[in-house]
Amino acid sequence: MSRSVLVTGGNRGIGLAIARAFADAGDKVAITYRSGEPPADLVSLGVLAVRCDITDAEQVEQAYKEIEAAHGNVEVLVANAGITRDQLLMRMSEEDFTSVLDTNLTGTYRVVKRANRGMLRAKKGRVVLISSVVGLLGSAGQANYAASKAGLVGFARSLARELGSRNLTFNVVAPGFVDTDMTRALTDEQRAEIVAQVPLGRYAQPEEIAATVRFLASDDASYITGAVIPVDGGLGMGH
Ligand code: NDP
Repeated sequence: MSRSVLVTGGNRGIGLAIARAFADAGDKVAITYRSGEPPADLVSLGVLAVRCDITDAEQVEQAYKEIEAAHGNVEVLVANAGITRDQLLMRMSEEDFTSVLDTNLTGTYRVVKRANRGMLRAKKGRVVLISSVVGLLGSAGQANYAASKAGLVGFARSLARELGSRNLTFNVVAPGFVDTDMTRALTDEQRAEIVAQVPLGRYAQPEEIAATVRFLASDDASYITGAVIPVDGGLGMGH
């Protein structure tokens, strides 16, 4: 059955792989993108690309209106858009902190809250939030990012309790290090150090995160809610 799926930040990296996975499975997929142009292959797959900055509530509202007009209410939401602004705490400006929280945590609140409207009416819905192993383990130089990603866990679990009786599920995927623009910004030395700590000894490919997201949105995951699923090559074991 073809569902209306929305992936935020679906123009590159993990979000792009997630959007492709749902589109390949025959779902009606919409992505939001903030800058640039959406990849041509997505558009030719029939994916609807809507420009939207999730730090702006008005743009979120407009994006939903456009998506609902084309695909109907969003039935599966993947809140993926996120940023880093790494800095040691003593050098971290308030702007470094609040901009990361505003995108990763409050931005997720904006898109989830808006999606829930239609999901409540339909009495079903699947929400998957993209957190990070860093939200569970902590990471020197990433206090803002780790706080935002840990916040997603409390957010999802609260909503799982609030809205479970309405047949809505809220789950969190916590990727380890994934080969995308975000991690390509690291130096070779930093990358080698990270890989040395990963039991599987490599970075994930974005498609490996997408497969777990698809599972959580599938009928096979009908009794899973409030879960945090690590996809991290073993990096966060026990967290
Ligand atoms: P990328 O930097 O490759 O892509 C980030 C995406 O988020 C882009 O589509 C970007 O849009 C979008 N985005 C950023 N800010 C906003 C905003 N204000 N409004 C709308 N869209 C926005 O990151 P990844 O693909 O690597 O990461 C995707 C998610 O996975 C993030 O939440 C990240 O924290 C998480 N993650 C990544 C890991 C990794 O190792 N790569 C590990 C664990 C978690 P634009 O192209 O316009 O900038």
